[in-house]
Amino acid sequence: MSRRRRIYEGKAKVLFEGPEPGTLVQYFKDDATAFNNRKQGVISGKGVLNNRISEYLMVRLGEIGIATHFVRRLNMREQLIREVEIIPLEVVVRNIAAGSLSKRLGIIEGTPLPRSIVEYYLKNDDLGDPLVSEEHITAFGWAAPQDLDDMMSMSLRVNDYLTGLFLGVGLRLVDFKLEFGRLWENEEMRIVIADEISPDSCRLWDVKTNQKLDKDRFREDLGAVEEAYQEVARRLGILPEGTVGDLTNVQAI
Ligand code: UDP
Repeated sequence: MSRRRRIYEGKAKVLFEGPEPGTLVQYFKDDATAFNNRKQGVISGKGVLNNRISEYLMVRLGEIGIATHFVRRLNMREQLIREVEIIPLEVVVRNIAAGSLSKRLGIIEGTPLPRSIVEYYLKNDDLGDPLVSEEHITAFGWAAPQDLDDMMSMSLRVNDYLTGLFLGVGLRLVDFKLEFGRLWENEEMRIVIADEISPDSCRLWDVKTNQKLDKDRFREDLGAVEEAYQEVARRLGILPEGTVGDLTNVQAI
């Protein structure tokens, strides 16, 4: 980890200078945070699993023509990515009520939504990532109307595709968060998916039992967090060698 120049350290990942200009190395840590950093912990093995799961999902998205920053996985904890200018928004897509939507609007967790809902949050830890509207985003210049159109249509495509992919392995995609970046090639700019897609950023419930197989196990102290992430990887057929999934401790909700 110390060989390369560190560009940025976040809660769950570190970015290092990449081998060529325009590339970065994304290192996945085992650290976990929730509730805007108020809860902190370590989920042993999480970095290895998220590196693998995010690789798998980004490659699948690439295959259906959705551009991402992902280039290739380098080793157990690192992947090579394209350097992008991160748009300071978190785009959340929801299919079933949970988390902050349930809290804010009093909708019981588990209620299917009448249609998929897309929300934008400003990436700002000091402000606790507040919910913002398209009006705020364009008025303050965080993204242009065309960027927002691109992000919205890409998010809905990702939602349709991942909903089907996860349903195929017995998981319900309750909601998830995407981040986007601007990638310049010659004079052309395009918006690509950045960051990661993993059980840290998705809510995934077992179709039959409603077991939570995502970061809510950490947020809600449900135990067997690593086992839940392993189970997601196992179902996707990508459990790294040498790891044994054991879900006996995972409680139904
Ligand atoms: N999410 C995320 N990072 C954040 C906030 C949310 O990855 O900083 C994900 C979260 O895992 C869930 C979805 O976005 O899959 C919706 O999260 P919600 O707004 O319900 O917030 P939370 O319950 O995490 O406060």
